[in-house]
Amino acid sequence: MSFSSAKIIDGKAVAAAIRTECKARVEALKQQGIVPGLAVILVGSDPASAVYVRNKIRACEEVGIRSVRREFAEPVGTDELLATIRALSEDRSIHGILVQLPLPAGLDTAAIVKAIPMEKDVDGFHLYNVGGLVVGGTVFPPCTPYGVVKMLEHENISVEGKNVVVVGASNIVGKPMALMLMQRDATVCICHAKTRDLAQFTILADILVVAAGQPNLIVPQMIRTGAVVIDVGINRLPGGRLVGDVDFEGVRKKASYITPVPGGVGPMTVTMLLVNTIGSAERTNARLR
Ligand code: NAP
Repeated sequence: MSFSSAKIIDGKAVAAAIRTECKARVEALKQQGIVPGLAVILVGSDPASAVYVRNKIRACEEVGIRSVRREFAEPVGTDELLATIRALSEDRSIHGILVQLPLPAGLDTAAIVKAIPMEKDVDGFHLYNVGGLVVGGTVFPPCTPYGVVKMLEHENISVEGKNVVVVGASNIVGKPMALMLMQRDATVCICHAKTRDLAQFTILADILVVAAGQPNLIVPQMIRTGAVVIDVGINRLPGGRLVGDVDFEGVRKKASYITPVPGGVGPMTVTMLLVNTIGSAERTNARLR
């Protein structure tokens, strides 16, 4: 099989289609007297975290989700954050709580993530939701891998029986990605920084998902002709340009599908946060009825 150039999966367009569905779901909830609510906790002054939080709040506004922002300047203690999470947990108008990670050094991230009740854990980081990924039927799939799954579905790319290679084994992207694709009957291989001879694995991939945070990690010789290449990486080059982990121009000539950076997986991540928040509000609504 030969491909003159891959189809570029337009993450913005897929995200826009899902956000249109989100608006309709929010409207239906509002007609039943429920306004989905998301609380976002931001600690410290990391500029990237501030941008991510701003984007999340803007996306909420776009689809009609009410957002509540709790900001903490440093120094702040773990106890103060735990008290805030407790109050938000009891607030029935809040259906999702997220803490923007990474937290500044000195805070107990594990205890803080654990304090978010699993029924409001829209980021999908609570151990119950992580366990659900292993046995199937997690309540909140983590947003980035969930976005990748939705992109593949949108493009009608079946994963069943496919060789999938995931490069990156973090708790928020690589591992849940691998588990979600395994649940969908793919044959999955996970690679990481200590993998010897990465290319011997990537060359076998029908679907290659790359989430390593290393520009140009994947070059054309490392992929099979016709592979589907999903680039999760976001790297800022010294000149300021944003790139993924894949040599986009080289690999697009050999792949069948490829995601760009920016404009690929990024817009999907925030969109899946909206989907998780709306899902949570719908479940609350169903319980109340
Ligand atoms: P992370 O926690 O730093 O994990 C990176 C993973 O990649 C680790 O498992 C690491 O291996 C592996 N890795 C690093 N260098 C490698 C190499 N040369 N060969 C093979 N594996 C390598 O990062 P993350 O949070 O998962 O994020 C990964 C990338 O995705 C980053 O660029 C991040 O900005 C981006 N991201 C994008 C979105 C989005 O919405 N598009 C969302 C989240 C993250 P070890 O485990 O052995 O260290």
